[in-house]
Amino acid sequence: MSELATDRNIDRSRMQVSDNVAIEINNMNKWYGAFHVLRDIDLTVYEGERIVIAGPSGSGKSTLIRCINALEEHQKGSITVDGTVLSNDLKNIDKIRSEVGMVFQHFNLFPHLTILENCTLAPIWVRKVPRKEAMETAMHFLEKVKIPEQANKYPGQLSGGQQQRVAIARSLCMRPKIMLFDEPTSALDPEMIKEVLDTMIELAEEGMTMLCVTHEMGFARQVANRVIFMDQGQIVEQNEPEEFFNNPKSDRTKLFLSQIL
Ligand code: ADP
Ligand code: MG
Repeated sequence: MSELATDRNIDRSRMQVSDNVAIEINNMNKWYGAFHVLRDIDLTVYEGERIVIAGPSGSGKSTLIRCINALEEHQKGSITVDGTVLSNDLKNIDKIRSEVGMVFQHFNLFPHLTILENCTLAPIWVRKVPRKEAMETAMHFLEKVKIPEQANKYPGQLSGGQQQRVAIARSLCMRPKIMLFDEPTSALDPEMIKEVLDTMIELAEEGMTMLCVTHEMGFARQVANRVIFMDQGQIVEQNEPEEFFNNPKSDRTKLFLSQIL
Protein backbone atom coordinates (compact mmCIF):
# COMPACT_ATOMS: atom_id res chain seq x y z
CA MET A 1 0.00 0.00 0.00
CA SER A 2 1.62 3.26 -1.04
CA GLU A 3 0.76 5.96 1.45
CA LEU A 4 1.38 8.84 -0.95
CA ALA A 5 0.07 8.61 -4.49
CA THR A 6 2.61 11.08 -5.80
CA ASP A 7 5.50 13.19 -4.70
CA ARG A 8 4.65 16.18 -6.85
CA ASN A 9 2.50 19.14 -5.95
CA ILE A 10 -1.08 18.70 -6.97
CA ASP A 11 -2.77 21.61 -8.74
CA ARG A 12 -6.19 21.93 -7.14
CA SER A 13 -7.19 25.10 -8.99
CA ARG A 14 -9.37 23.27 -11.51
CA MET A 15 -10.57 20.56 -9.14
CA GLN A 16 -13.80 22.43 -8.54
CA VAL A 17 -17.06 20.69 -7.75
CA SER A 18 -19.99 22.26 -9.59
CA ASP A 19 -23.68 22.41 -8.65
CA ASN A 20 -24.56 20.39 -11.75
CA VAL A 21 -25.50 16.81 -11.11
CA ALA A 22 -23.49 14.28 -13.15
CA ILE A 23 -25.00 11.07 -11.75
CA GLU A 24 -28.13 10.61 -9.66
CA ILE A 25 -28.88 7.21 -8.13
CA ASN A 26 -32.11 6.77 -6.19
CA ASN A 27 -33.04 3.74 -4.11
CA MET A 28 -31.25 1.46 -6.53
CA ASN A 29 -31.27 -2.30 -5.91
CA LYS A 30 -29.78 -5.14 -7.87
CA TRP A 31 -29.98 -8.89 -7.58
CA TYR A 32 -27.89 -11.64 -9.16
CA GLY A 33 -30.63 -14.27 -9.25
CA ALA A 34 -31.72 -14.58 -5.63
CA PHE A 35 -28.62 -12.78 -4.30
CA HIS A 36 -29.35 -9.18 -3.30
CA VAL A 37 -26.05 -7.58 -4.30
CA LEU A 38 -26.86 -3.85 -4.08
CA ARG A 39 -29.27 -2.51 -1.46
CA ASP A 40 -31.00 0.87 -1.48
CA ILE A 41 -28.17 2.80 -3.07
CA ASP A 42 -28.65 6.58 -2.99
CA LEU A 43 -25.86 8.62 -4.48
CA THR A 44 -25.60 12.03 -6.10
CA VAL A 45 -22.37 12.83 -7.92
CA TYR A 46 -21.71 16.43 -8.95
CA GLU A 47 -19.62 17.45 -11.95
CA GLY A 48 -15.98 17.69 -11.01
CA GLU A 49 -16.18 15.32 -8.06
CA ARG A 50 -13.41 12.78 -7.48
CA ILE A 51 -14.98 9.95 -5.55
CA VAL A 52 -13.08 6.98 -4.20
CA ILE A 53 -15.16 3.87 -3.51
CA ALA A 54 -13.61 1.62 -0.87
CA GLY A 55 -14.77 -1.52 0.86
CA PRO A 56 -14.00 -5.18 1.36
CA SER A 57 -13.88 -7.67 -1.47
CA GLY A 58 -17.38 -8.73 -2.49
CA SER A 59 -19.08 -5.61 -1.10
CA GLY A 60 -20.51 -4.64 -4.50
CA LYS A 61 -18.10 -1.91 -5.61
CA SER A 62 -17.59 -3.28 -9.12
CA THR A 63 -21.26 -4.06 -9.52
CA LEU A 64 -22.17 -0.48 -8.58
CA ILE A 65 -19.90 1.12 -11.12
CA ARG A 66 -20.85 -1.44 -13.76
CA CYS A 67 -24.50 -0.48 -13.22
CA ILE A 68 -23.63 3.18 -13.85
CA ASN A 69 -22.58 2.51 -17.43
CA ALA A 70 -25.16 -0.23 -17.98
CA LEU A 71 -22.73 -3.14 -18.10
CA GLU A 72 -25.09 -4.58 -15.49
CA GLU A 73 -28.84 -4.08 -15.19
CA HIS A 74 -30.41 -2.90 -11.98
CA GLN A 75 -33.89 -4.12 -11.03
CA LYS A 76 -35.26 -1.42 -8.75
CA GLY A 77 -34.79 2.31 -8.33
CA SER A 78 -33.22 4.68 -10.85
CA ILE A 79 -29.88 5.75 -12.26
CA THR A 80 -29.65 9.00 -14.19
CA VAL A 81 -26.41 9.91 -15.94
CA ASP A 82 -26.01 13.44 -17.28
CA GLY A 83 -29.79 13.79 -17.43
CA THR A 84 -30.40 10.48 -19.23
CA VAL A 85 -32.34 7.84 -17.32
CA LEU A 86 -30.77 4.42 -17.59
CA SER A 87 -33.52 2.15 -18.82
CA ASN A 88 -33.63 -0.82 -21.13
CA ASP A 89 -33.91 1.57 -24.06
CA LEU A 90 -30.81 0.83 -26.13
CA LYS A 91 -30.59 4.41 -27.34
CA ASN A 92 -30.11 5.57 -23.77
CA ILE A 93 -27.53 2.90 -23.12
CA ASP A 94 -25.51 3.96 -26.18
CA LYS A 95 -25.66 7.59 -25.10
CA ILE A 96 -24.52 6.82 -21.58
CA ARG A 97 -21.72 4.52 -22.72
CA SER A 98 -20.41 7.25 -25.01
CA GLU A 99 -20.36 9.74 -22.14
CA VAL A 100 -18.92 7.44 -19.51
CA GLY A 101 -15.43 6.02 -19.86
CA MET A 102 -14.41 2.90 -17.98
CA VAL A 103 -11.01 1.54 -17.05
CA PHE A 104 -10.73 -2.01 -15.70
CA GLN A 105 -8.21 -3.84 -13.56
CA HIS A 106 -7.09 -5.99 -16.49
CA PHE A 107 -6.79 -3.23 -19.12
CA ASN A 108 -9.00 -5.13 -21.63
CA LEU A 109 -7.08 -3.90 -24.66
CA PHE A 110 -7.62 -5.71 -27.97
CA PRO A 111 -4.45 -7.84 -28.25
CA HIS A 112 -4.50 -8.15 -32.03
CA LEU A 113 -4.76 -4.40 -32.63
CA THR A 114 -1.96 -1.86 -32.30
CA ILE A 115 -2.07 0.76 -29.55
CA LEU A 116 -3.19 3.35 -32.10
CA GLU A 117 -5.88 1.02 -33.49
CA ASN A 118 -7.10 0.32 -29.97
CA CYS A 119 -7.56 4.06 -29.52
CA THR A 120 -9.26 4.75 -32.85
CA LEU A 121 -11.60 1.75 -33.12
CA ALA A 122 -14.55 3.06 -31.11
CA PRO A 123 -14.28 6.69 -32.24
CA ILE A 124 -14.34 5.56 -35.91
CA TRP A 125 -17.01 2.83 -35.64
CA VAL A 126 -19.20 4.09 -32.80
CA ARG A 127 -18.76 7.87 -32.96
CA LYS A 128 -18.28 7.95 -36.78
CA VAL A 129 -15.25 10.21 -36.43
CA PRO A 130 -13.24 10.45 -39.68
CA ARG A 131 -10.15 8.21 -39.53
CA LYS A 132 -7.61 11.05 -39.79
CA GLU A 133 -9.24 13.00 -37.00
CA ALA A 134 -9.51 9.85 -34.85
CA MET A 135 -5.80 9.20 -35.33
CA GLU A 136 -4.91 12.78 -34.39
CA THR A 137 -7.06 12.55 -31.26
CA ALA A 138 -5.49 9.22 -30.36
CA MET A 139 -1.97 10.63 -30.69
CA HIS A 140 -3.00 13.62 -28.58
CA PHE A 141 -4.12 11.36 -25.74
CA LEU A 142 -1.19 8.96 -26.11
CA GLU A 143 1.07 12.00 -25.67
CA LYS A 144 -0.94 12.99 -22.67
CA VAL A 145 -0.35 9.61 -21.01
CA LYS A 146 3.29 9.88 -22.12
CA ILE A 147 3.60 6.93 -24.51
CA PRO A 148 3.19 8.31 -28.06
CA GLU A 149 6.26 6.31 -29.14
CA GLN A 150 4.36 3.06 -28.48
CA ALA A 151 1.56 3.85 -30.95
CA ASN A 152 2.43 1.17 -33.47
CA LYS A 153 3.22 -1.61 -31.03
CA TYR A 154 0.81 -4.29 -29.80
CA PRO A 155 -0.45 -4.44 -26.21
CA GLY A 156 1.63 -7.56 -25.47
CA GLN A 157 4.81 -5.58 -26.16
CA LEU A 158 4.05 -3.03 -23.41
CA SER A 159 4.45 -3.17 -19.65
CA GLY A 160 1.35 -3.40 -17.47
CA GLY A 161 1.62 0.25 -16.48
CA GLN A 162 1.92 1.30 -20.11
CA GLN A 163 -1.05 -0.87 -21.10
CA GLN A 164 -3.17 0.70 -18.40
CA ARG A 165 -2.20 4.19 -19.59
CA VAL A 166 -3.26 3.12 -23.10
CA ALA A 167 -6.57 1.98 -21.65
CA ILE A 168 -7.03 5.42 -20.10
CA ALA A 169 -6.06 7.15 -23.37
CA ARG A 170 -8.46 4.89 -25.28
CA SER A 171 -11.31 5.92 -22.99
CA LEU A 172 -10.43 9.60 -23.32
CA CYS A 173 -10.58 9.33 -27.14
CA MET A 174 -14.36 8.98 -26.76
CA ARG A 175 -14.40 12.38 -25.00
CA PRO A 176 -16.24 11.11 -21.90
CA LYS A 177 -17.76 13.44 -19.34
CA ILE A 178 -17.30 10.93 -16.54
CA MET A 179 -14.58 8.35 -15.93
CA LEU A 180 -15.10 5.15 -13.94
CA PHE A 181 -12.07 3.23 -12.68
CA ASP A 182 -12.32 -0.28 -11.25
CA GLU A 183 -9.12 -1.08 -9.36
CA PRO A 184 -6.95 0.27 -12.16
CA THR A 185 -3.68 -0.39 -10.32
CA SER A 186 -4.49 -3.70 -8.61
CA ALA A 187 -2.93 -5.87 -11.31
CA LEU A 188 0.25 -3.78 -11.55
CA ASP A 189 3.70 -4.25 -10.08
CA PRO A 190 4.43 -1.62 -7.42
CA GLU A 191 6.80 0.41 -9.58
CA MET A 192 4.09 0.87 -12.21
CA ILE A 193 1.33 1.95 -9.87
CA LYS A 194 2.64 5.47 -9.58
CA GLU A 195 2.70 6.15 -13.32
CA VAL A 196 -0.97 5.16 -13.59
CA LEU A 197 -1.96 7.16 -10.50
CA ASP A 198 -0.09 10.17 -11.91
CA THR A 199 -2.17 9.90 -15.08
CA MET A 200 -5.34 9.77 -12.98
CA ILE A 201 -4.18 12.77 -10.94
CA GLU A 202 -3.67 14.75 -14.13
CA LEU A 203 -7.22 13.94 -15.18
CA ALA A 204 -8.47 15.12 -11.81
CA GLU A 205 -6.47 18.34 -12.20
CA GLU A 206 -8.30 18.95 -15.46
CA GLY A 207 -11.65 18.77 -13.72
CA MET A 208 -12.79 15.30 -14.83
CA THR A 209 -15.64 13.76 -12.85
CA MET A 210 -14.21 10.49 -11.56
CA LEU A 211 -15.43 7.48 -9.60
CA CYS A 212 -12.54 5.26 -8.62
CA VAL A 213 -12.70 1.89 -6.91
CA THR A 214 -9.22 1.63 -5.45
CA HIS A 215 -7.24 0.45 -2.46
CA GLU A 216 -4.76 3.28 -2.95
CA MET A 217 -5.58 5.29 0.12
CA GLY A 218 -2.77 7.76 -0.61
CA PHE A 219 -4.62 8.63 -3.82
CA ALA A 220 -7.88 8.91 -1.85
CA ARG A 221 -6.32 11.33 0.65
CA GLN A 222 -4.65 13.49 -1.98
CA VAL A 223 -7.16 13.54 -4.81
CA ALA A 224 -10.64 12.50 -3.67
CA ASN A 225 -13.11 15.06 -2.41
CA ARG A 226 -15.26 12.22 -1.07
CA VAL A 227 -14.67 8.64 0.03
CA ILE A 228 -17.56 6.18 -0.04
CA PHE A 229 -17.35 3.03 2.02
CA MET A 230 -19.40 0.02 0.92
CA ASP A 231 -20.07 -3.22 2.76
CA GLN A 232 -22.50 -6.02 1.94
CA GLY A 233 -24.08 -4.12 -0.93
CA GLN A 234 -24.74 -0.92 0.98
CA ILE A 235 -23.15 2.48 1.21
CA VAL A 236 -22.30 2.37 4.91
CA GLU A 237 -20.56 5.70 5.24
CA GLN A 238 -19.24 8.58 3.17
CA ASN A 239 -17.19 11.60 4.02
CA GLU A 240 -14.39 13.91 2.90
CA PRO A 241 -11.06 12.05 3.10
CA GLU A 242 -9.73 13.70 6.26
CA GLU A 243 -12.86 12.88 8.23
CA PHE A 244 -13.21 9.46 6.68
CA PHE A 245 -9.70 8.36 7.66
CA ASN A 246 -9.32 10.22 10.97
CA ASN A 247 -12.80 9.89 12.32
CA PRO A 248 -14.64 6.90 10.84
CA LYS A 249 -18.15 6.52 12.20
CA SER A 250 -19.28 2.94 11.77
CA ASP A 251 -17.62 -0.14 13.26
CA ARG A 252 -17.45 -1.71 9.82
CA THR A 253 -15.47 1.26 8.48
CA LYS A 254 -13.14 1.19 11.50
CA LEU A 255 -12.50 -2.52 11.01
CA PHE A 256 -11.82 -2.03 7.30
CA LEU A 257 -9.41 0.84 7.90
CA SER A 258 -7.58 -1.09 10.63
CA GLN A 259 -7.01 -3.88 8.13
CA ILE A 260 -5.73 -1.81 5.22
CA LEU A 261 -3.84 1.13 6.75
P1 ADP B 1 -16.40 -6.00 -5.20
O1 ADP B 1 -16.08 -5.32 -6.48
O2 ADP B 1 -16.69 -5.05 -4.08
O3 ADP B 1 -15.35 -7.00 -4.80
P2 ADP B 1 -18.51 -7.26 -6.72
O4 ADP B 1 -19.40 -6.16 -7.14
O5 ADP B 1 -17.57 -7.81 -7.73
O6 ADP B 1 -17.73 -6.83 -5.39
O7 ADP B 1 -19.37 -8.48 -6.20
C1 ADP B 1 -20.34 -8.34 -5.19
C2 ADP B 1 -20.96 -9.70 -4.91
O8 ADP B 1 -21.68 -10.13 -6.05
C3 ADP B 1 -19.95 -10.79 -4.60
O9 ADP B 1 -20.51 -11.61 -3.60
C4 ADP B 1 -19.82 -11.53 -5.90
O10 ADP B 1 -19.48 -12.88 -5.68
C5 ADP B 1 -21.21 -11.40 -6.47
N1 ADP B 1 -21.20 -11.38 -7.95
C6 ADP B 1 -20.46 -10.55 -8.73
N2 ADP B 1 -20.73 -10.77 -10.04
C7 ADP B 1 -21.66 -11.76 -10.08
C8 ADP B 1 -22.35 -12.43 -11.13
N3 ADP B 1 -22.15 -12.10 -12.43
N4 ADP B 1 -23.25 -13.38 -10.78
C9 ADP B 1 -23.47 -13.71 -9.48
N5 ADP B 1 -22.86 -13.10 -8.43
C10 ADP B 1 -21.97 -12.14 -8.73
MG1 MG C 1 -14.42 -5.44 -7.70
